[in-house]
Amino acid sequence: MAGWERLSFEDGFLVATTPDPLGVGRLANHVRERLHGNSAFFNVNRHLDPTNVCVASCGLCAFADKYGGSRGRTYAVELAVVITARDVTETVTELHIVGGLKPKLGVEFCKVLFQALKLRSSWIHIKALRMVELDFLSQCSKLPVGEVVGRFMTAGLDSCPRGGAEISADRVRARICDHKASEERGLEIARTVHRLRLRSNCTMLYGHIETPEERGDHLVRLRELQE
Ligand code: SF4
Repeated sequence: MAGWERLSFEDGFLVATTPDPLGVGRLANHVRERLHGNSAFFNVNRHLDPTNVCVASCGLCAFADKYGGSRGRTYAVELAVVITARDVTETVTELHIVGGLKPKLGVEFCKVLFQALKLRSSWIHIKALRMVELDFLSQCSKLPVGEVVGRFMTAGLDSCPRGGAEISADRVRARICDHKASEERGLEIARTVHRLRLRSNCTMLYGHIETPEERGDHLVRLRELQE
């Protein structure tokens, strides 16, 4: 775009370590208004996590429980639809669906769930399954990720969240989420998702043990993926 200049990694480091975060906010707002005028965009969403049972044991996770654990719970499709129906009125635009990695909740379960949710609320945008979940479903079903995603699209999947990406740096991932798909695998799956013309969002989990350099590295990798 004419007149625009890419921020470098060094610019990113400066922004992340400045003692004037409000100044950065003003600059960001300037860019926002240049792109969109004085408009803000948002959606109204509800979350559904069909299960918190997970075979992984990520160091940062306070959500999951093991098989047979006292906090573990899994919804059948029918119950998931009933629970969702309680929360989803016509003003809700999106359902955000993520959960633990549980082998018994395979491709078929997700397909039937998406179909049932669309049947109940046809207008709803279904944003579901992080890259780590798609990787897991692909491994369990022995189907390529593209095939799995294609089946879900037919059932009603509209986009995928990129939550669970945490921070790209291996040093950090080894401490907080070493049971998850590697960063490279996550990016590879995101590329497959995008090639199928599904969108995904970007996330960064920060403010824990990562350094400003590692934040910058994460953002640069996301931008390279988008490019
Ligand atoms: S994969 Fe997700 S749900 Fe499972 S332990 Fe890791 S962070 Fe928790």
